[in-house]
Amino acid sequence: MRYLLSLILIVAQLGLFAQNVNKQNFPDKKNFNRVEMALPQVNGFTVLRCDFHTHTVFSDGLVWPTYRVGEAWMQGLDVLAITDHIEYRPFKEYVGGDFNASYELALPAAREYGIMLIRGTEVTRKQGVIGHFNALFIQDANAIEHSDPEKALQAAYDQGAFVMYNHPAWALDTCLQTEFQQAMIDKGLVRGIEVFNNDEFYPRALSWSRDQQLTVFASSDIHWTINDVLESHFPDGTGTAFRPMTLVFVNQKSEEGVREALDNRRTLAYFYGNVAGEEKWLKSLFLASVQWEKVSERGKSISYRVTNLSGIQYKFTIGGTQYILDGGASIQISLPAAQREVVMHILNMHYYEGKHPVVSMVLG
Ligand SMILES: [Zn+2]
Ligand SMILES: [Zn+2]
Repeated sequence: MRYLLSLILIVAQLGLFAQNVNKQNFPDKKNFNRVEMALPQVNGFTVLRCDFHTHTVFSDGLVWPTYRVGEAWMQGLDVLAITDHIEYRPFKEYVGGDFNASYELALPAAREYGIMLIRGTEVTRKQGVIGHFNALFIQDANAIEHSDPEKALQAAYDQGAFVMYNHPAWALDTCLQTEFQQAMIDKGLVRGIEVFNNDEFYPRALSWSRDQQLTVFASSDIHWTINDVLESHFPDGTGTAFRPMTLVFVNQKSEEGVREALDNRRTLAYFYGNVAGEEKWLKSLFLASVQWEKVSERGKSISYRVTNLSGIQYKFTIGGTQYILDGGASIQISLPAAQREVVMHILNMHYYEGKHPVVSMVLG
């Protein structure tokens, strides 16, 4: 034992002397942290945090593909798609003309970080007439280049792609569904729609998603770095630090699992404290997130501790009173002892233009 102690002391001293006083790593340097938005299991499904619309220097983005992966990891994403424009590549002279390059450069980094990278591209035509479409789960972006936009979407479809209609009101006065877009939806070539893109919410597109059975998406469509955009959106610090994300309800955490969920419209669009999508999934997410526990009874009222297991801040009303329940927090709510059921209007959730889900719970 004594020998062991001396040995430890010698090793410790050697370690001390071995330090180079002229080169010290400064401990206060910012480390790369992954911060995830907490999400509960919902009806047996795992909820994945996804961004299916991003750009790099291989189209008109300003970062290298591996940077998108590291940034996605720090932002707590599970799934990322890099969707460089086929038809708009201002840096082509410098980065070459292979439309698969951004995916191939990003893939080793995505594997290293455990980010699921979906191969994608953005078919980019005149906004307001033909529009922009993201093709996800493609095999070869080079084979999607066609002068006829329908042929481009058909080529993506033939590769097994899931195609969504991007930012339906971007650079326009209102949300548009043109003849071409309607025809592509009717033919089944386009099956999803962005209800949120960058800093724009499209309530009309949310109504179309319900009326036409389209899968909803919220995308960053990031061209700069995510931190540049998040800080400029929320200078007062009231918003969350998370980018717009598509929440995908999967049976299994795999590409097949994500694809199956998109095919079956099991997604919600999350953007800056709001959640939009199908009413049943909004209600299920809220009910899985928020727990009511009776804590005390005084006279004719009962106090409940209401706890939010998710990282989403919920805003809701009960009767005429509005409550804000922060992510990961609890609040105390008192109700009349005789009340057996609580009815909550969830103000930060949206399933149609101007419509919030109403959730009722039986109090135990
Ligand atoms: Zn676009
Ligand atoms: Zn884009």
